[in-house]
Amino acid sequence: MKRLKDNETYPCPVCRSGNVTSLFMMENTFSCQFCQHLFTADFSQQLLTMMDSEISLSWYWNGKQWSSPQRQGMELGWEYAIAGLLFVLLPSLIVGTGAYLFPPVPGTPLAWLPTAWTILTAITHCGILLWLITEYYQFPVRLYLQARWQQRS
Ligand SMILES: [Zn+2]
Repeated sequence: MKRLKDNETYPCPVCRSGNVTSLFMMENTFSCQFCQHLFTADFSQQLLTMMDSEISLSWYWNGKQWSSPQRQGMELGWEYAIAGLLFVLLPSLIVGTGAYLFPPVPGTPLAWLPTAWTILTAITHCGILLWLITEYYQFPVRLYLQARWQQRS
């Protein structure tokens, strides 16, 4: 556990490849040497806010990693992983079981529907889960991809 303070290095919450360090002679200001984004730090609240972004993005430092400021002190445990897994598996399983128990007549126009519906259920629930995860970690997908793209070109 280390607190957010001056003269320290932290993983960059945007590109997740670089590190953010405090700028020389500039109080409460951090920058990433990799994606070049600027951040302002609030040490009393352990918050890092992005300065050069049109949308307000901030992260809460929990001593090990960044998370959403709305979820201060909330740790993601294994029970969340299980809940997440059930959230994806259960509906797909129910829909899939239904399709298996009451199979459509082969060759009828909508015979593909139960299978497609099962796959669709799994995909949408996966999507919701991924969205919840990115929301929890305040993972800026677009900025991350931008940084990755710039790295390649
Ligand atoms: Zn960065």
